[in-house]
Amino acid sequence: MTCVCGSDLWPWRGAEPIGDPHPMGHEYVGFVEEVGSAVTSVKPGQFVVGSFATSDNTCANCRNGFQSNCLHREFMSTCQADYVRIPNAQGTLVATDDIPDERLWPGLLAVSDVMGTGWWAADAAEVKPGSTAVVVGDGAVGLCAVIVAKELGAERIIAMSRHETRQNLAREFGATDIVTERGDEGAARIKELTGGIGADSVLECVGTPQAMHQALHSARPGGNVGFVGVPHDDAVDGQELFFSHVGLRGGPAPVRRYLPDLIDRVMGGRIDPGKVFDLTLPLDQVAEGYKAMDERRAIKALLTP
Ligand SMILES: [Zn+2]
Ligand SMILES: [Zn+2]
Repeated sequence: MTCVCGSDLWPWRGAEPIGDPHPMGHEYVGFVEEVGSAVTSVKPGQFVVGSFATSDNTCANCRNGFQSNCLHREFMSTCQADYVRIPNAQGTLVATDDIPDERLWPGLLAVSDVMGTGWWAADAAEVKPGSTAVVVGDGAVGLCAVIVAKELGAERIIAMSRHETRQNLAREFGATDIVTERGDEGAARIKELTGGIGADSVLECVGTPQAMHQALHSARPGGNVGFVGVPHDDAVDGQELFFSHVGLRGGPAPVRRYLPDLIDRVMGGRIDPGKVFDLTLPLDQVAEGYKAMDERRAIKALLTP
């Protein structure tokens, strides 16, 4: 099972050059068909979940928990297909104990990127029990980030969204407040809701300069911004950051670090990030999935064989 990612829309819109035609996509769960001679950690027939960034899980960066910066990293790229080859399979794939019930597959698929990325956003923004967390972005990652903020015990979770179905899902996932204003107005509203100070943690899940400004202006001095939207323009003013006392950390999520825990949370029914999929299409209609997401008719498109 695979899906379309918000980040797939960048090349689709022409914002990133693509060479030859090739299958897209980097999110996947599925059954092992065959393994290479060096692979002993998984075997044919097992149901596996992997990260969009492959890793050996043994090098120094992996051991430090930054598997998405593995010295042998290869990003997945051809998952919107019937079969996919997983480089670094030994360190990348995590097999479930049993074959999961089919209704859990979408949730496990979400773990391979958007849920893991949401977790990293919250981790990077240092969400703590009792804190106030703001989520910028109401795409699949932003909505998953709301789940994480709740799992990590944030007392107040403010989701920034002006889209009703997404607001409803954010509330279902644990958002306590919704802010519809954007940009400086959005940041001003966050200040209003936080005693004029700003939030402890802000999770930036978009990647545009506007979203980054909004995030930086919404955090309190001493607070932290975790940014997981892939930046496509310079968005950070060094001098402004210096005087803000806001901590900033982001990057591609080390999903592999979180996989065992997230698989358990989904398999145990504690979280259901699969709810972000609001459109299911057969693989050969993948183009409609891109279109629906681009036009914001769908949050995230699930693709079935
Ligand atoms: Zn993705
Ligand atoms: Zn590594």
